Amino acid sequence: MESIYNYTEDMLKEYWISKGEKPFRASQTLEWIYRHDISCFDEITNMKKTVIEELKKDFTLDGLSCVTQQKSVDGTQKFLFQLKDGNLIETVLMHQEYGYSVCVTTEVGCNMDCQFCASGMKKKLRNLETSEIVLQVVMVSRLAKVRVSHVVIMGIGEPFDNYDNVIRFMKIINHPLGLEIGARHITVSTCGIVPKIIEYADFDLQVNLAISLHAPNNTIRNQIMPINRAYPIEDLVRAIQYYIKKTNRRVTIEYILLKGLNDSISCADELATLLHGLNVYVNLIPYNEVSGKSYERSLKEDMIAFFDWLKKRRINVQLRKEQGSDIDAACGQLRSKHMKL
Ligand code: SF4
Repeated sequence: MESIYNYTEDMLKEYWISKGEKPFRASQTLEWIYRHDISCFDEITNMKKTVIEELKKDFTLDGLSCVTQQKSVDGTQKFLFQLKDGNLIETVLMHQEYGYSVCVTTEVGCNMDCQFCASGMKKKLRNLETSEIVLQVVMVSRLAKVRVSHVVIMGIGEPFDNYDNVIRFMKIINHPLGLEIGARHITVSTCGIVPKIIEYADFDLQVNLAISLHAPNNTIRNQIMPINRAYPIEDLVRAIQYYIKKTNRRVTIEYILLKGLNDSISCADELATLLHGLNVYVNLIPYNEVSGKSYERSLKEDMIAFFDWLKKRRINVQLRKEQGSDIDAACGQLRSKHMKL
């Protein structure tokens, strides 16, 4: 049986039409699943018994099983979920001044092999199904008893390596009868799969795009992000230009500061030149050190100097405040610990 959390409104319409029912059953179904958050189809009160029996025959409403739920002193919560096949995935809930934000995982493991990342140490076993991504948001909101207002697709995995399921996920959580998360409150982050960035420029939802850049030139980026050998910085910047031109939207550039590697003033200057004239916002991120990796967090004064230099060069920039570092909130760390047990 298939998870009903895989289904968009259009897919449910097709399903109901194939059953000889009216398409409006699709919106009814979504409303019961997400608004009423039912745990069994018998809770539905405005459908005939025969119609409910069809749902019971074809779909499951099963959730994810929560293995651990950790809470940081700053309110960040980290969840380790077990999937039906036994694989473990992580999801993070952050409390921001504007509401609750969930960071979802899109793959079991990741093939991108970014050198600073704990998740990249575990090869990709498979893509997550749409339902497994949707259920992370549903489960976190149930377990933490909060209304999730923002979603970032920045957990384990490269979202554009699981493109179709991620696009479907965004449609479902954005739907007014789904979780109703505004498109501008959803951000998808890619390490730079150029053809998918170009394809994504045609996606009709106004969802935010973030690029994990982390280096101002090919020499450094090749060292820390193998994807750069397939799609070097010049191609990536061209894809960003295309995306901005097509969508008229600002792109976020993620830049993790690594001590002695990409955090010098000359790197800041090179980055400013690379991004000059682009409608981007740079997010500087202090590194959460990963056991087994030799990369270190930049010194505070170097982070501030880097930030100041970009400001001076008139680049929109912020230095991200850290969340949840006491609970292994850096991506992949909780999962890695459990897998060692
Ligand atoms: S940073 Fe993201 S894309 Fe890179 S290895 Fe880690 S999970 Fe994969």
